[in-house]
Amino acid sequence: MRTFHSAIFKLFAYIWALPNTALGLLFGLLILGLGGKVRIVTGVAEFHGGKTGRFFASLPRPLCFGAITLGHVILGTCQQELASLREHEHVHVRQYERWGMFFLPAYVLSSLWEVSHGRHGYRNNFFERQAYAVESTQKSQLTSSTKRNA
Ligand SMILES: [Zn+2]
Repeated sequence: MRTFHSAIFKLFAYIWALPNTALGLLFGLLILGLGGKVRIVTGVAEFHGGKTGRFFASLPRPLCFGAITLGHVILGTCQQELASLREHEHVHVRQYERWGMFFLPAYVLSSLWEVSHGRHGYRNNFFERQAYAVESTQKSQLTSSTKRNA
């Protein structure tokens, strides 16, 4: 019964995040059309590479990025970046599942709030702080379990 409830919950999460996922799929199709690739990793479509991947990787800071998440779609510059950023981006996938179509406006508002208070719009963004906190917790757990197994 619990599996049934979690399957229903997951289905609603996909539906709730669908407008953002549809936007991500549009960009994903562009990546595919320009020589990129796609694969599904734990229920999320990961697009990467091609001309768009090289273009975004070549941009100067702060415009360059390794990956960006839109619903259940992650757009990355290359497969290595996707692998290294996967934990962080999957936190954003769960945020989309919670916030649905309100995620992107809430994300922008959080950045504007931080900038208006003299802080960094990306690093201090509520959603980014949450993603980095989960990412660092998972990395420290992995490190301690690796030490235990060594
Ligand atoms: Zn992030």
